Amino acid sequence: MYRFNMYHRNLRALAIQCLVLSCVVLGASTTFARSPTAAEIEKVLAEAHSKFKGVKDGANADYIPALAEVDPELFGISLVTPDGRVYDVGNSDYTFSIQSISKAFIAATVIENQGTQNMMDKIGVDATGQPFNSIKAIEMIDERSVNPLVNAGAIATVSMVQGDNPEAKWATIAGSLDAFAGRKLPVMEDVYASEAATNGRNQAIAKLLAAYGRLYDDVGVSVDLYTRQCSVGVTSHDLAVMAGTLAAGGKNPVTGKQVISAENVPEVLAIMATAGLYDDSGIWLYNVGLPAKSGVGGGIVAVSPGDYGIAAFSPRVDAAGNSVRAQLAIEYIVERLGGNIFE
Ligand code: GLN
Repeated sequence: MYRFNMYHRNLRALAIQCLVLSCVVLGASTTFARSPTAAEIEKVLAEAHSKFKGVKDGANADYIPALAEVDPELFGISLVTPDGRVYDVGNSDYTFSIQSISKAFIAATVIENQGTQNMMDKIGVDATGQPFNSIKAIEMIDERSVNPLVNAGAIATVSMVQGDNPEAKWATIAGSLDAFAGRKLPVMEDVYASEAATNGRNQAIAKLLAAYGRLYDDVGVSVDLYTRQCSVGVTSHDLAVMAGTLAAGGKNPVTGKQVISAENVPEVLAIMATAGLYDDSGIWLYNVGLPAKSGVGGGIVAVSPGDYGIAAFSPRVDAAGNSVRAQLAIEYIVERLGGNIFE
């Protein structure tokens, strides 16, 4: 396994060298991404908001009862550039639960604290092609937990978080989400209570992982911390800053704090690219071309490395659990501002 990974690391190093060489050959001053003006960004965000605010497809997730009660018409979009400028439109200051979007940032924290190799070995980094709460994927794929952005891998990732007791682990989880957002984020106690009362499936997933030796702390503690992490309240503004931190090489563009080291960002983005929108990750990458992460609360973040972090929120989700309006809005904005990583 180790030799195999080293081989891939060497290949990656070679690919980067070739890219650098071709930049020199093509002319080092070439700019790869467009640099839209502030007025252009404001215009495109406003257009996306007005174009998609009438879309009624999808429905609020209701397997967590509290999510069904959120006003489905809410719609906010935010974008942050690496120089710390934040652009907001619509309900960008409405607080909703972060849900699975938290998974990307806690994965980033565990990679930062325990290394990329540990993430690969103890969780896995491959896409499942299955729904986010799949039990079938645990049975079918030898790594069991598979990747940190589906429920199984995310609960296992929480079980890896360092700390001598649940409180210490929670301090690490909450502290890292706060650092990415640049402010102290609240826990939405109603959402937490609602999911804690109905999360039998996640408890089953954690037990199954424990049976396979792929959970690294107590089942009850891990599911509880995971549920609490998913109940953290954010706005689209917060999420854009969090995504903007990944876009700016791990440095929060608003607070200036280096939250994770730049060298660990590519691995986080790679997992987001292949698994961020669950079983629709391929369609998303094909249409939008950005690493992203969604949550059943209706939020989506996407990262254009070096250019911007973007977030959109609207509660109605599709069959895969991805916000319909947020997907449409981000796709529209990326097409107009540029930043698709494959361009
Ligand atoms: N807390 C949710 C769950 O475990 C998160 C799922 C999601 O956002 N896709 O089911």
